[in-house]
Amino acid sequence: MAKTVLITGASRGIGRSTAISFASKGYQVALNYYADTDSAEKTAEIVRSFGVFAQTFRTDVSHADAVDQMVRDVTELFGRIDVLVCNAGIAQQRLFQDITEEEWNRMIGVHLSGTFHCCHAVLPQMIHRKEGRIVTVSSMWGITGGACEVHYSAAKAGIIGLTKALAKEVGPSGITVNCVAPGVIETDMCADYDDQTKQALREEAPLGRLGTPQDVADAICFLASEQAGFITGQVLSPNGGIVI
Ligand code: NDP
Repeated sequence: MAKTVLITGASRGIGRSTAISFASKGYQVALNYYADTDSAEKTAEIVRSFGVFAQTFRTDVSHADAVDQMVRDVTELFGRIDVLVCNAGIAQQRLFQDITEEEWNRMIGVHLSGTFHCCHAVLPQMIHRKEGRIVTVSSMWGITGGACEVHYSAAKAGIIGLTKALAKEVGPSGITVNCVAPGVIETDMCADYDDQTKQALREEAPLGRLGTPQDVADAICFLASEQAGFITGQVLSPNGGIVI
């Protein structure tokens, strides 16, 4: 029986590449997204071209009840969830003093609470089967901190803490929990960077380029693979060497 992966934020960017990579390995793919139905359906179409089953699920991961319902729906339709990828995210550049409480809560809600809600909803079936793979998505700013992105950095650092603690708790149940913390990846999230900023970031990276969504998808798929069976609680950072 084909394995099933649930990927949050799978309509565009890193999530889309991750969905396609899992499809190319024969996984059935449940694609979560927030609002961009056209992009989500486009991703589903590409995934299905690999001959695997795919379905989109429009759900705001910051809402616990909605995530619970989504996980019930995915499980009913696909039979089970073998791999969970918590990738959904938003970005915002703001001076710390200008971050409103609403913006702070939204950032923590989508990233950190979203990851909590998805893990919380999917884990019971993984624990019951005594197997499963969870991959969370942080950022290099979650490791180093990024100026003008304090709320984003805090949420991403929280995801690293969640990953490490949860890995210890569910390891005895045969479940691995790992984190991918990308550097600068060329997606819609970085669309606001001007050419000069992008060039400066390329020059800062020992590997001399920005990352692609595929660079991150490869890291996520590795952590979900059998080859990563002895790896848990780790942070893998595809960042071109900007953070070593
Ligand atoms: P994109 O902006 O390209 O895509 C974001 C995805 O998240 C979309 O699918 C979007 O759905 C979804 N999403 C946003 N909010 C919610 C929500 N509340 N509930 C469910 N889904 C939601 O971003 P990237 O692909 O660049 O980023 C993916 C992840 O990687 C994020 O967690 C990001 O923080 C992280 N990351 C990205 C880096 C980069 O440089 N790009 C660097 C480091 C980490 P919709 O299309 O419907 O809006």
